[in-house]
Order: sequence, then structure tokens, then C-alpha cells
Amino acid sequence: MSVEDVNELDGSGIAIEHLNKEFRVGTGRTFQAISDINLKIPAGAFVSLIGPSGCGKSTVLRILAGLETPTSGTVSVNGATVTPGSPAAGLGIAFQDSALLPWRSVRRNIELPLEIQKRKDDKVVDDLIELVGLKGFEKARPGQLSGGMKQRASIARALTVKPKFLLLDEPFGALDDMTRQRLNFELQRIWMQRSATTLMVTHGISEAVLLSDYVAVMSTHPGRIVKLVRIGLERPRTAETMRSAEFHEAVDYLSSLLFNQQQTADGHADDGER
Ligand code: ADP
Repeated sequence: MSVEDVNELDGSGIAIEHLNKEFRVGTGRTFQAISDINLKIPAGAFVSLIGPSGCGKSTVLRILAGLETPTSGTVSVNGATVTPGSPAAGLGIAFQDSALLPWRSVRRNIELPLEIQKRKDDKVVDDLIELVGLKGFEKARPGQLSGGMKQRASIARALTVKPKFLLLDEPFGALDDMTRQRLNFELQRIWMQRSATTLMVTHGISEAVLLSDYVAVMSTHPGRIVKLVRIGLERPRTAETMRSAEFHEAVDYLSSLLFNQQQTADGHADDGER
């Protein structure tokens, strides 16, 4: 079976329990962004979070990164509870705009996390540059790189701390389809070598199917997880996998789940305008 619904899994990788987040939106008014989110994922798994815009994907990610305080509920990563301001040990983050420092070379951007932790290690940086395919571009500035190369540098930077937990927010969102697909295969290769528990927020259904062990589908108003799906395709997944009936079955299933969520979201938007 290439795709199947799953219920309770072991939460040794990610455990989100009864998570709520309300934002203050004016005097005495709050907006409930996410409501009673529960998600348990085994250690070492690759998970994608998909759902309509505004359903709270980034909010969940930011809480997992320790960047946002939940209103209630708990999150833990690889068995350790995350508290705001103190991210999980071995956390690597790569977000959509690669956020490289324009005045530093590729190499100096990648080694930044090690520099901050005062444990520079040329070998680690060399290996990562090789791993993400940026050899020969070490001295280039971000402004001289293509979008895909910037994202590779950003992923290499996230990997310098040898993350046991990797958070990716639309890492290839701004790239053209061809580059995105190539980088997805690269990411799979890197992830298979490093085996970090990974959570990726994405709008791309085929990207989610290609990379994930599990896909969590969210609904909106307020944000909830409506379905957790296991993707049972063998690894490594290849261009051939993407042409297979099993792959299309998984994409179609997730599309139908998302389409239903989108219709509900649109319905709510109309309500708001009346
Ligand atoms: P997604 O990543 O799924 O697009 P977000 O997590 O960015 O969604 O946002 C979820 C909802 O919470 C949205 O309606 C957004 O407008 C709202 N929101 C996010 N951050 C804030 C904030 N700091 N203050 C008020 N509302 C916010």
C-alpha cells in the first residue's frame, strides 16, 4: 500500500499534545490560530505538514523551534520537552528565504553556527560543502548564486550542527519546478545519510509524497490536524517512483483531502466577507 491513514504512532521523534495558540489581535481580542493539535512521530522519520494557507503550519513549526510560546499544550522533540527560548538540542533550521548573510562567502555562511558555538571545524564544513554539491563555490557571495544554490547553502548551514532534528519551512518554495525536483532528490539523499527526525512545511503535494514517511494534513479555522497518512513507497525514491501508479495514488489521495480542506477554508472566507 503506497498510502494509508494511520492513528496513534510512537512519539519518540516528535510529540505534540493538545497544542493551542491564540494570538492577541487588538485590545481584549484574540485569534485562535491552532486548536488541539496532536501529532506523534517516531524518531528519525521525515514528516511533512500540508494544509491551506493560514491553517497554522508555520505556527506549529515555530513552536517546535522554541521561537513561539504556545497558549497551552506541550511539544517534545526526540524525547526532550521544548520550552520557548530554549530550542531542542541539535536543532537545524532552513526556512524559505535562505537568509544567508550577503557579505559573507558561501563557506563563511555555512560555518556560522559553528563559529557562534566557538567550535570551528574545517573538516565538517568541507564535508557539507561536498555533500550539498557546492564545491568550487566556497568563495562566492550569496548574490552570485542561483536560488537553488542559495537553498543548498542554507541546508548545509542547518546541517553543520549535526542536527538530530531538522525543521524545513518551504525550503524550495521559491524555486522553479525542475530545480525543486532536483533538490528534493538531493534532500532525500542527505536525509538518508544523516537520519535526523525532520518536519517540513510545504505546499507541494508531490514534494511531500516524494520525501515523507508521514504526511499530516491540516484544516483551517482553527488549524487542526485532520489526517495523518503513511507513505509506504520504498527508498530511495527516484524519478521512476514519481512516474509509478503508487506515487500517483498517494498524490491523488492527499489532493482530495486538501481539496476538501480548501473548500471549507473558502466557505469560511465567504462568511467573513458578508
Ligand atoms: P500557515 O503557515 O499555515 O500559512 P501561519 O502559521 O503563518 O499559517 O498562520 C496561522 C494563522 O495565524 C493565520 O491566520 C495568521 O494570520 C495568524 N497569525 C500568525 N502569526 C500571527 C501573529 N504574530 N499575530 C496574529 N496572527 C498571527
